[in-house]
Parts: sequence; C-alpha cells; structure tokens
Amino acid sequence: MPNTPVNIAINGAAGRMGRQLLSAVAEVDNAKVSAAIDAPGQPSIGVDTSVLSGGQATGVSTVDNAASVMSHFDTIIDFTAPAVTLALLEQLRGSGKRIVIGTTGFNAEQLKQLYAAAKDTPIVFAANYSIGVTVALSLLRKAAQALGDDYDVEISEAHHHHKVDAPSGTALAMGHAVADALNRDLDECAVYAREGITGARDPKSIGFATVRAGDIVGEHTVLFAGNGERLEITHKANDRMTFARGAVRAAIWLSSQPAGLYDMTHVLGIEKE
Ligand code: NAD
Repeated sequence: MPNTPVNIAINGAAGRMGRQLLSAVAEVDNAKVSAAIDAPGQPSIGVDTSVLSGGQATGVSTVDNAASVMSHFDTIIDFTAPAVTLALLEQLRGSGKRIVIGTTGFNAEQLKQLYAAAKDTPIVFAANYSIGVTVALSLLRKAAQALGDDYDVEISEAHHHHKVDAPSGTALAMGHAVADALNRDLDECAVYAREGITGARDPKSIGFATVRAGDIVGEHTVLFAGNGERLEITHKANDRMTFARGAVRAAIWLSSQPAGLYDMTHVLGIEKE
C-alpha cells in the first residue's frame, strides 16, 4: 500500500464508467484524480471533473488529449473503446506510466498489440473489475474440471442498450475459463449464434446468447446441463460502482508492480490453478 496518494488519470472521464471512476477515486485516501481526459469536442472538455462526478470541486479540468497531462499522473484508468486504448498505450510506452484497462471488444490483432505493450508497461487488463465476477471465474474453472465433458456448457449475458460489443468481454472471459479447464480452444468450439436448421448440438461446443435491453448493468449465467440436472453460476451487477471500485483497487495495487500483464486474480491474490 503506497504512503503517498497515487496520482490517477481517468481516460474516458465523461463516459458511464468514467464518471463512476471519478467518484470511486474520491472515496479512497491513497489515490487522487490528477488528470481527466475525454474525446475532443465533448462538452466536458475544460470543465472541472466535479461536474461529471457530481462530487466536490477537484481543480482538475477534463482535457482532450493525454499528452498534455502526461506529467500529472502515475497510473491511468481507461474505459473507452479499443482503438482509443491502443493509441493511448502507444503514448505510454517507455514513459514509466502504468495503466488499468477496462475497455472490452478488442479483436485478436488488437489483443496482440495490447499484450506486446505489457513487455515494457505495467498493465492490469480485466473484462470485469467486480470481485464477484473474479470469484465466479475461479468457481467456473473448478466446476468445469469437476463436471468434465458430460455437461453441455451455455453462457448467456444481458446488458444495457448502449453496449457496442457482443458477446460481452466478461462472457468471453467465462468462456475461456471453462474452455481452458476442459482442454478446449474457445476459438474452435464457441457458437455465437444459432438460426434455422442448425443440426444437433455439438457436445464439445460452448454456446453464447446475448440480450441488449434497457439499463441492465450486466448479468451473466453459465449453465452446465447434464442428464437429469443443471448447475448455473450467475453474477448480477446492480451498480457500475462495483466495476469502478475494483479498477481503482487495481490501480493502487499496480503502483508497486513492474512491467507485465496482470488481471484481477493478481490484484486480489486469488489462485487460478
Ligand atoms: P461510454 O461510451 O459511456 O464511455 C466511453 C467514453 O470514452 C466516452 O465519454 C467517450 O467520449 C470517451 N472517448 C471516446 N474517444 C476518446 C478519446 N479519443 N480519448 C478519451 N476519451 C474518449 O462507455 P462505458 O459504458 O463507460 O464503457 C466503456 C468501455 O468499458 C466499454 O468497452 C465497456 O464494455 C467497458 N466496460 C468494462 C467494464 C469492466 O469491468 N472491465 C465494466 C463496464 C464497462
């Protein structure tokens, strides 16, 4: 735990998550918001971050590029969009800065770029910063190992109507956890859509179903269906602050870590097995 507060920048400060992150940093003693960035042209540019968070004035105005505030922060928390995150990573490389990435929806090529940046930059990257989902991932690995190939695995998720990527990063992380435990490659066994005469279910497949509706913060269920019984592991997020608090915890933890790629299991000290 650092003695002096960690100076944190929020990238995407005006977004749904950015506003929660501003509030989550304000809750803790060992970190402070020292910079806030959002896209050029946003109404929040040049405005005190308290207008975004609804909290007390911070004296920190939102700017439209990270380069202009690079000397103001140690660690940046980024919940934006894949292209924005990758451009930021390029700016950070070699600067000694750290980054907590919450953005989801990276394609395989973009993920390669992100992993390459971890060679010289300390990065926490998690599809879901809630403690409940981090524990759920560990339970899923255990369940899949114990149940084996005799149980069909289907993953369903629901999110608000603004979400732009599907299936969610969390659903994919859950799919990877189960596939790895069953010695399957998710890229080969995932079924992302079914329509028409699909034929019988391939027993080695892992199916995904997606709902986008209203203001649902995030719900995920992994179903293991066998003969005569079903096991469901479900997580429901009621409030985005759960992700924001987890990301701030990750940022404080990261402040004492060397370059490398970390996730919430490292932050929370949970064994992956
Ligand atoms: P949002 O659209 O509300 O916010 C994104 C913000 O990024 C906006 O304010 C936008 O103006 C800003 N932005 C766009 N271009 C920018 C640029 N060049 N520089 C700086 N800022 C820029 O979206 P959201 O709901 O807050 O979600 C953001 C991301 O976080 C998504 O990928 C979402 O899936 C992910 N997310 C992850 C978790 C998690 O726990 N990992 C939880 C919730 C959301």
